[in-house]
Amino acid sequence: MSQFDVDLFVIGAGSGGVRAARVAAQYGARVKVAEEFRVGGTCVIRGCVPKKLLVYASRFADEFEDAAGFGWEVPSPKFDWKTLIARKDAEIARLEGIYTTNLERAGAELIAARAVVEGPHTVVLPATGERVTARNILIATGGRPADQPHFVGREHAISSNEVFHLESLPERITIIGGGYIALEFAGVFAGLGSKVSVVHRGPHLLRGFDEEVRTSLEAAYRERGIEILLERTIERAEKIQDGLRITLSDGSAHEADVLLSAAGRVPYTQGLGLAASGVALNDKGAVIVDEFSRTNVPSIFAVGDVTDRVNLTPMAIREGQAFADTVFGERTTRVDHKLIPTAVFSTPEIGVVGLTESEARAQYAQLKVYKATFRPLKATLSGRQEKILMKLLVDGVTDKIVGAHMVGDHAGEQVQLLGVALSMGATKADFDRTLAVHPTAAEEWVTMRTPVP
Ligand code: NDP
Repeated sequence: MSQFDVDLFVIGAGSGGVRAARVAAQYGARVKVAEEFRVGGTCVIRGCVPKKLLVYASRFADEFEDAAGFGWEVPSPKFDWKTLIARKDAEIARLEGIYTTNLERAGAELIAARAVVEGPHTVVLPATGERVTARNILIATGGRPADQPHFVGREHAISSNEVFHLESLPERITIIGGGYIALEFAGVFAGLGSKVSVVHRGPHLLRGFDEEVRTSLEAAYRERGIEILLERTIERAEKIQDGLRITLSDGSAHEADVLLSAAGRVPYTQGLGLAASGVALNDKGAVIVDEFSRTNVPSIFAVGDVTDRVNLTPMAIREGQAFADTVFGERTTRVDHKLIPTAVFSTPEIGVVGLTESEARAQYAQLKVYKATFRPLKATLSGRQEKILMKLLVDGVTDKIVGAHMVGDHAGEQVQLLGVALSMGATKADFDRTLAVHPTAAEEWVTMRTPVP
């Protein structure tokens, strides 16, 4: 008989926790998983998946508009927010069911309750007072929207948690932030017909992205009628008869029906008993882990956003898998946190992998930059003026591609495959050798011949 009730106790049934629990159970571990909210975590319940469904909904607006250039006569389309939200909710419920079934099929026991760490091998369920001992504990509680920024009337702002359940489509929405969430929702609401304003404290949107990607999206959003207010913050929000009056740091006042704060996310470690159990946290409250996701308490591990390494679902899944392989599968596995393809599902979409131009210039003395900006074939008849941007960064010494960036339709799909090429160490010559698929936008990746001077 083991001295512990279970081999693994996972706190949090999101992407990282579920993967770790399933794989550990498949290796024969006795596993319990506690989840205080809904199985699936941020990504499935109130993140990537519902967001992408809303993104799809919003993009029909362009299609209806473009159709006229191809001979279609489209009667003025009507959109119903309630229908979309109900259908989205049904799909999320279906996915939650699948996640739950998969956990149970793997042999893990799901506990629908909050769990708190009490010591290196003990977890307590505050609702019942029940204690469970575990050989290993995995913290996979993810993140939550940051409380900041501070301004008078911030209680009137909603976060990305609530935005999925608005009663109706706001006529006017003001969004705080210039990151992933702010820009994805700006695109969603603009597509669905809201008047959108983005208020960002920085000089450009999307800090950390390639400079041209940032300015290109900014220009595209402005062209699409989204108001981009840079180097400004919110000073005050007050309820007025017809919505909210929002005063900015430049003294200007704006009205909106909804104020969405998308000013970052923070690790969800509050009240988890970690500090009391001796688990070291960093100054942002993230669990500090080593390359095997192990904390300073040898029996306690953490994966996903709660560790604030790379806050992306596929990374949490990798980390969960590597943890289970290492601890229960006798296969020591490290997770590589480099070369991460990623997409921002703004409209137009952004896809990136590798270094930005300024990062690449700092690392490579002989950097070659290849660039294509063009209107896609479809635009010839639709009349749409928006341009696609594609950029390849090549180390002139080794010919290796060190970065690829795109703003335009399906950039996320394209960058997934570029990620494969870059992971394999592709050179510009490899791209040049590859035959184009014609006519596509993607063929530009293999037909760019002259570096920008
Ligand atoms: P981000 O970190 O991407 O963006 C936060 C934004 O809020 C930044 O523009 C930041 O400005 C601004 N900000 C932060 N604090 C303040 C403040 N006090 N006052 C005013 N502005 C502030 O966070 P998100 O919330 O958009 O998303 C969280 C994470 O979730 C992302 O970083 C990403 O890892 C993940 N995610 C991934 C998605 C995807 O893969 N498609 C989609 C959604 C989320 P500044 O730049 O000046 O710091």
